[in-house]
Amino acid sequence: MIPYGRQDIREEDLEAVREVLLSDYLTQGPRVPAFETALAEHIGAKHAVAANSATSALHMACQALGLGPGDRLWTSPITFVASANCGLYCGASVDFVDICPDTFNMSVAALATKLEAAERDGTLPKIVVPVAMCGQSCDMQGIRKLADKYGFAIIEDASHAIGGRYRGAYVGSGALADITVFSFHPVKIITTAEGGMAVTDDDELAQKLRLFCSHGITRDPDLMEGVSDGPWYYQQLVLGQNYRMTEMQAALGLAQLKRLDAYVATRARRAHHYHTALDGVACQLPFETDGINSAWHLYVIRLDQADNRRAVFEELRAAGLGVNVHYIPVHLQPYYKALGFTAGDFPLAEDYYARAISIPLYATMDDDQQQQVVDLVRGALG
Ligand SMILES: *Cc1c(COP(=O)(O)O)cnc(C)c1O
Repeated sequence: MIPYGRQDIREEDLEAVREVLLSDYLTQGPRVPAFETALAEHIGAKHAVAANSATSALHMACQALGLGPGDRLWTSPITFVASANCGLYCGASVDFVDICPDTFNMSVAALATKLEAAERDGTLPKIVVPVAMCGQSCDMQGIRKLADKYGFAIIEDASHAIGGRYRGAYVGSGALADITVFSFHPVKIITTAEGGMAVTDDDELAQKLRLFCSHGITRDPDLMEGVSDGPWYYQQLVLGQNYRMTEMQAALGLAQLKRLDAYVATRARRAHHYHTALDGVACQLPFETDGINSAWHLYVIRLDQADNRRAVFEELRAAGLGVNVHYIPVHLQPYYKALGFTAGDFPLAEDYYARAISIPLYATMDDDQQQQVVDLVRGALG
């Protein structure tokens, strides 16, 4: 089976994890802060806060921004459920903005229209979560302008997009989103097994992220109410969770981070090869918008004929390709339908879903494997 994505674990990764296992600290030691600092420096953000998953990072980002009951969070229907669930964890309500069919990202035009109506009705969102689908950044300047006009905060779900660029700067370098979240799940660009990171340029948000990540507890006397009882003392200030990353994960992340740019370059090279090798096949190929360098987490083709999708998918799976579909529109999940969403709510997302197939793309894929994918896809689609 050629999977749609997979991790790359090398000798130096094993050595880094082994060293931690034999050290004094398996958790709350020096590696997590070292990984945070290295990642923040690499992408050019001021603060990075590690978490045990991107799902956790999204939740603590919502908490840091003060999301609560009565508030609204909007995201894209074409994403993993975690981008929406973070709003529900906080007791807020969740709604969606349809996608742009070229990029599969939240449509800024649709967002503008929906915001106009929400302003009239008094139902503006507190947080909007644009998702950099497949590794391609959203139109962050367009979304920032709307955020400034309507007063919402931006959590950029860049789970797919670490190492990608927007107008030359790394995704998450801070100026446009309030908080950017990355995932280190093994199918993503770099991995810590489970793991995630929230980055921000805002000192106060960074402090809150740290609180919510670790029980709402601080040992910093400057943050405490009243005076500290002594060196042992800590205070719980908010209701947080234990969302901390372990030292083993951080050591793996540090080793992987060194190869981030090489991984993204290799993925881009493979993607560009698909562009040429699959030209003329009965599907639409993905492309990068001007000013954006995708991290190429996924290579999604959209079949010209939606009613072929299941047969083509099954044929490719039977031939040994670990093809997949990203994503089933979140609003069509039974849990979200029970909240009132229904088929037809976001027609462009639903049309995308009907046609999409993710074909294999990962950093260690070799020429033979890619040629096999090309031959099988060409065979299945004519
Ligand atoms: C993978 C993913 C997540 C969740 O990441 P975890 O680290 O597995 O929690 C969230 N959003 C998107 C868009 C993802 O692809």
